[in-house]
Amino acid sequence: MSDFARTRALFDIPEGLIYLDGNSLGPLPVVAKQRVADMLANEWGKHLIKGWNVAGWMAQPRRIGDRIGKLIGAPEGTVVMGDTLSIKVYQALASALDLNPGRKVVLSDSGNFPSDLYMAQGLIGSLGRGLDLKVVEPEDVEAAIDETVAVVMLTEVDYRTGRLHDMKALTAKAHAAGALTVWDLAHSAGAIPVDVFGAGADFAVGCTYKYLNGGPGAPAFIYVAPKHAEMARPALSGWLGHEAPFAFDLDYRAGHGIDRMRVGTPPVIALTVLDAALDAWDGVSMHDVRAASIGLCDLFIREVEGRCPELTLATTRHGHQRGSQVSFRHPAGYAIMQALIARGVIGDFRAPDAIRFGFTPLYIGEKEVLGAAAILEAIMKDRLWDKPDYHRKAAVT
Ligand SMILES: *Cc1c(COP(=O)(O)O)cnc(C)c1O
Repeated sequence: MSDFARTRALFDIPEGLIYLDGNSLGPLPVVAKQRVADMLANEWGKHLIKGWNVAGWMAQPRRIGDRIGKLIGAPEGTVVMGDTLSIKVYQALASALDLNPGRKVVLSDSGNFPSDLYMAQGLIGSLGRGLDLKVVEPEDVEAAIDETVAVVMLTEVDYRTGRLHDMKALTAKAHAAGALTVWDLAHSAGAIPVDVFGAGADFAVGCTYKYLNGGPGAPAFIYVAPKHAEMARPALSGWLGHEAPFAFDLDYRAGHGIDRMRVGTPPVIALTVLDAALDAWDGVSMHDVRAASIGLCDLFIREVEGRCPELTLATTRHGHQRGSQVSFRHPAGYAIMQALIARGVIGDFRAPDAIRFGFTPLYIGEKEVLGAAAILEAIMKDRLWDKPDYHRKAAVT
């Protein structure tokens, strides 16, 4: 059994705060402070450039990739870290399109995160070979997979509603139609059990600052299925993805396997934080996390629906069909979230009208769920949200 009392003590969360936004930015792992201080003083400070070899910095992207691989069902040596998720989406989609040159359609859905769609639009524009990004409603994805589709590019958990796609079934359908898949695990990795290899995913990508608690701007990961690893052509052919970076050849030759998905110099300080953050998962079963998360989400839905009739549930009631988040809709959603934040309950707002709460059993329990529901009830009953201050939009919502 996973010990969530132990994991909760691993995070530095301000006293009295109910933090339901670990789906956007995980909290600070206590151990990261010391680990980074050590890295700065004893690795960078003492070794300087020698750190690349003696402190293992160059091996970090693969070593940490393997740690993440364990959380997403990826075999050793199939995941590597680097860049941001948007870049990894571009990279995965470019390689997938290259492996399926005869087709013209990239299929995605309207529940995908805009950056994924933007990256696809940009890539299609640069390739200039008449590709078309087809965006359908999430429920219509399965029916839209046909013999015109080159790549099905989806985010497994919808960032707004939490709706969960069936990765295995959609991948099987894509393969039967001769298409490849790119799965974005931004709201899956560290939130729900994932089995990229078992599901047959061709490419998968994800970020590490959400449920993996790697800190603001933490590097992303990319998985390439073993069957494609030696064939995938990296569109971003940087020197660290080269077969022999330190040969300084003038021509690019892709490195072996997942190494070719590296681009440039790894962000060593950020990876050090992430490495420390991943310690929280040692001894934790993702199935226990899933069971606890479904319990917390169910409880929150029950409490909020009982106390706040004006809010409309935007998330499915079926625990197994959603990720680890719950959203409610209200026309004044933004102001309601500001009122919550002012009272120490942190979630976030997603346009046009969703207030969103992430449930992360590593450090959230029933006490926080009940506390948040009670504060939300008070805000709704007395219209405490209806203040000019709460209507003013900040740059980041
Ligand atoms: C959070 C998120 C992103 C963010 O991409 P960055 O490049 O890390 O800013 C992209 N796609 C999805 C699906 C996300 O949830």
